[in-house]
Amino acid sequence: MKVELLSYLSTEGLLEALKELGLTCPPELLIPHTSFTFSIEGISRACSHQLIRHRTASFTQQSQRFVKVKRLREHVVLPESIRKRALQPYMEFIDKAGEVYVKLMELGVPGEDARFVLPNATTTNLLVTMNGLALKHFFGLRCCLRAQWEIRTLADMMLLKIRSADPMLPPLGPYCYQLGHCPEGRLSCGRMMEVRERYDKLT
Ligand SMILES: Cc1cc2nc3c(=O)[nH]c(=O)nc-3n(C[C@H](O)[C@H](O)[C@H](O)COP(=O)(O)OP(=O)(O)OC[C@H]3O[C@@H](n4cnc5c(N)ncnc54)[C@H](O)[C@@H]3O)c2cc1C
Repeated sequence: MKVELLSYLSTEGLLEALKELGLTCPPELLIPHTSFTFSIEGISRACSHQLIRHRTASFTQQSQRFVKVKRLREHVVLPESIRKRALQPYMEFIDKAGEVYVKLMELGVPGEDARFVLPNATTTNLLVTMNGLALKHFFGLRCCLRAQWEIRTLADMMLLKIRSADPMLPPLGPYCYQLGHCPEGRLSCGRMMEVRERYDKLT
């Protein structure tokens, strides 16, 4: 997985613009005007499906209709649990899926239909733009230990990128870190102190 912050409009930049206009504003109220565009490479389709549920963001995703997967084995995410416990059946399945995918296209099936045999593990690339408020909510949900590991890793990488680009943003991280309490109720991981310490260090 690779994450780059391609462009951004930071709180500091906005304060400068306001100054030019003869305006002032508390920095925390500028968060909806901030904007961050990321390039994200090599996440699984399982992860990108979770990512695109965030409706307040804008997305451009690599087309599986037009971009053909050459060697599937080189374009899949390998979860740690599978690497440790079930690498062989997993890779056998990936190779078989890749073989059938190529076979379908050799038989004249168009890419848009051949992709039906590609697994959730298949990697994808996206361009994502979110404002600071949308990101705050995204981190609140997806840095949480209840979130799935891959999107949590992605959220952490995005957080690190914007932390250095815009240090004036409010504390960012899972909701327990932002709010000072866990909003998950009985589903809470019960590890709030440990999580908060981690985000104190991370950010
Ligand atoms: C741990 C976890 C488990 C999950 N499990 C599932 C699951 O099993 N099944 C499943 O389907 N999804 C699941 N999701 C996805 C979840 O339901 C949300 O779709 C996803 O987290 C996006 O959150 P959101 O809608 O708050 O964010 P966004 O879509 O980014 O929206 C942000 C906020 O904008 C407002 N908003 C956005 N669109 C509208 C609208 N049309 N009308 C009114 N207000 C709007 C809401 O206040 C919303 O909270 C899971 C998410 C997490 C974090």
